[in-house]
Amino acid sequence: MTPERFAKISGVLNLRQPSLTVLMDEVNKPHNFSAVLRTCDAVGVLTAHAVPPKHGGLPTFNATSGSAEKWVAVESHADAVSAVRQLQAGGMQVLATHLSQRSVDYRELDYTRPTCVLLGAEKWGVSDEAAGVADANIIIPMFGMVQSLNVSVAAATILFEAQRQRLAAGMYQTPQLSEAELQRLRFEWAYPELAPLYVARGEAYPALGEDGELPS
Ligand code: SAM
Repeated sequence: MTPERFAKISGVLNLRQPSLTVLMDEVNKPHNFSAVLRTCDAVGVLTAHAVPPKHGGLPTFNATSGSAEKWVAVESHADAVSAVRQLQAGGMQVLATHLSQRSVDYRELDYTRPTCVLLGAEKWGVSDEAAGVADANIIIPMFGMVQSLNVSVAAATILFEAQRQRLAAGMYQTPQLSEAELQRLRFEWAYPELAPLYVARGEAYPALGEDGELPS
């Protein structure tokens, strides 16, 4: 662990936005799944959520994803409706990317609120049931011949609007994670091979030095 690498890890964690996330409902193509996670990393999503496709489980990661999956945890859920309810119970507004009577332009929403963007499968989109329990339905207006965007393009469009609003609100200026969470994540990101050993032994992580060095 070089001091430069540790400084990079600390800096990125200071920008993480635990109150911004996505829920991917049965997104089954690995390159789409990886591309969404890469955008999540870029805007500061700490943990993404996913309902695995009925066949095959969570997509395996694409080697070209820039390893975003190392930096964005993925929490798995049994189904979209229960996932939406769980996220709402945790204080998130869930915005379903779905065309319905109540759909609004995605730019009309306030993304400085704790927010989860619900994204649908390539073939089926978001189900009516999941869209129905979401707090709002949003769309990216389409003026061309094709009816929908690639799911990763839609995710990027919406998440960078969230980043724009959060930058304007100063939400990247001070860490959104508590000092205890930052300490834990700094250790796990800096020493991914050691962290599971401490967890298995039920021991607290050791305090790192200023430059990320392990105690002697
Ligand atoms: N046939 C599907 C349908 O009827 O919804 C198309 C799914 S689209 C290829 C995959 C996902 O990308 C959608 O479920 C949604 O999450 C997102 N998406 C694509 N175009 C979008 C748009 N214009 N506005 C909002 N989300 C969009």
